[in-house]
Amino acid sequence: MTEQVDVLIIGSGPAGSTYARTIGDAVPTARILMVEVGPHIPGVRGAHTQNMSEEARVAAQLLTQGPETGVERAKALADIADGLDPSLEFRQTILPGLFFLDPRPKLAEDEVGLSAASMASGVGGMGIHWGTSSPRPHQSERIPFIPADELDAALDHAEQLLGVTKWDVPGTGLAEAIRREMADEFDGPGLTPVGFMPSAIQWKDGQAHFSGTGVILGDLEATVPGFELRAETLAKRVVVEDGVAVGAILEDRGTGDLREVRARHVVVCADGLRTPQVLFASGVRPAALGHHLNEHFQVGAFGYLNDAFDPERHDSDPERLGYVLVPFSDARPMQGGIIAMMNSPYSLGIDDEALASRLVAFAWYGAKDIQFRDRVEFSETETDFYGMPKMTVHYSHTDQDLRTIQRLKENARRSADRIGALAEEPELAAGGSSLHYQGTVRMGAADDGASVCDQYLKVWGVDNLYVGGNGVIPTSTAANPTLTTVALAWRAATRIAARLLDRT
Ligand SMILES: Cc1cc2nc3c(=O)[nH]c(=O)nc-3n(C[C@H](O)[C@H](O)[C@H](O)COP(=O)(O)OP(=O)(O)OC[C@H]3O[C@@H](n4cnc5c(N)ncnc54)[C@H](O)[C@@H]3O)c2cc1C
Repeated sequence: MTEQVDVLIIGSGPAGSTYARTIGDAVPTARILMVEVGPHIPGVRGAHTQNMSEEARVAAQLLTQGPETGVERAKALADIADGLDPSLEFRQTILPGLFFLDPRPKLAEDEVGLSAASMASGVGGMGIHWGTSSPRPHQSERIPFIPADELDAALDHAEQLLGVTKWDVPGTGLAEAIRREMADEFDGPGLTPVGFMPSAIQWKDGQAHFSGTGVILGDLEATVPGFELRAETLAKRVVVEDGVAVGAILEDRGTGDLREVRARHVVVCADGLRTPQVLFASGVRPAALGHHLNEHFQVGAFGYLNDAFDPERHDSDPERLGYVLVPFSDARPMQGGIIAMMNSPYSLGIDDEALASRLVAFAWYGAKDIQFRDRVEFSETETDFYGMPKMTVHYSHTDQDLRTIQRLKENARRSADRIGALAEEPELAAGGSSLHYQGTVRMGAADDGASVCDQYLKVWGVDNLYVGGNGVIPTSTAANPTLTTVALAWRAATRIAARLLDRT
């Protein structure tokens, strides 16, 4: 017998989980099937790897690396991609838990590629590895065709779902001392004021608890008996009949068996690169599919605090994050993060305490000059590790991009000069390093060929088919995208829930 569900969700990351939770809360009788191509991770479902013991974290990371499963990336550079040269410029951006799209792309003359573009395959998606920085979008980062109050309400919900903690200005201790310097350097008329980075972290008993994707799902298995998360299950394609999505063909990765599941609504949240891949494989190919690909430029450098910012001289609250945020503004289309490692709950594994206490990371993201021609292309004939259409990225820099990159480096230097000194020159990270791939299934105000879905993330021209994830973001942004992605998925999911309730 063919399996029948109300909602089929493809992908178990933050976007898919937001759909599941929102629909489940509104319609507890709904039958919701969430499929995930990667495996279950031992322990609590969707737990953040930073909350685990070192041993459990390493084991979890090794499980979500798709074709590179089981290979310690940082230690075995040459093994993670055939012939990979350990001196490659993106060496430092190789993160455990992920795998490459294509670390050695063949580039056309005017292309720069995204050699560091990476993905994760496992229950929780990248949302069990993420850094939890959750800034709101500002000014032109916001989506102009969503009414401002609706977008703000959606962002409020997203903050609740992710368990985001925010810090008021003025703060205290070292973090506040750094914020004051940055405000003096970077605040000005029309610019979004310098503050602290909101983070999806809660402090309990002096311990930082990072929100993994499980925080979004809550206890859905208990409250919605019809919810099921099925791992190691690949959605090969969505089945579309007469312009209506009616289900999908699923492959059991263990046995290779194929089966069809019928669904009243199908939601594809398979990340910024693989969501358009699933649509392509399904024959759903709007003109904008895979196009307008954009990710933030990332310029980073390490430096040291000078004596005035010696942590010993400041009363630092252990529950403060030393993460000062210079937010995006139209007049300065970039975001700066000034991270005093001393106050960061992330463990860098530096043994020398004196060194670690003065270490600062300067992380600047710049907004891309979005171009239609920047795209992920899918092959009709060749396949990837999972047997899905092979992806090739075409990506280039415009003159405006080169100016943005130059300005990012200048601002990294300016931020360092206020509080200490750089230990190295600020460098542009290899394309793809941000892990924020946007625009590939972008939302639009009208079905005019420039977008893939409407403002409620329904794919143009196909009923009952929705998308989610960073790929839906249509604007040029520097803010980390997950909060916005969760907000947009929440908004879309409330629509689906209302339609289910109409018919129940
Ligand atoms: C180390 C790290 C740090 C980060 N830091 C931040 C940060 O500080 N702030 C921020 O905003 N963002 C950050 N991110 C990015 C953030 O994790 C992503 O924005 C977020 O996870 C995107 O959610 P998603 O649900 O769209 O995609 P994902 O989390 O990637 O989940 C998609 C899931 O779909 C599955 N899938 C794909 N294809 C199929 C298929 N055909 N069938 C079934 N399943 C499929 C994948 O296996 C994957 O599990 C970071 C990411 C990493 C790895």
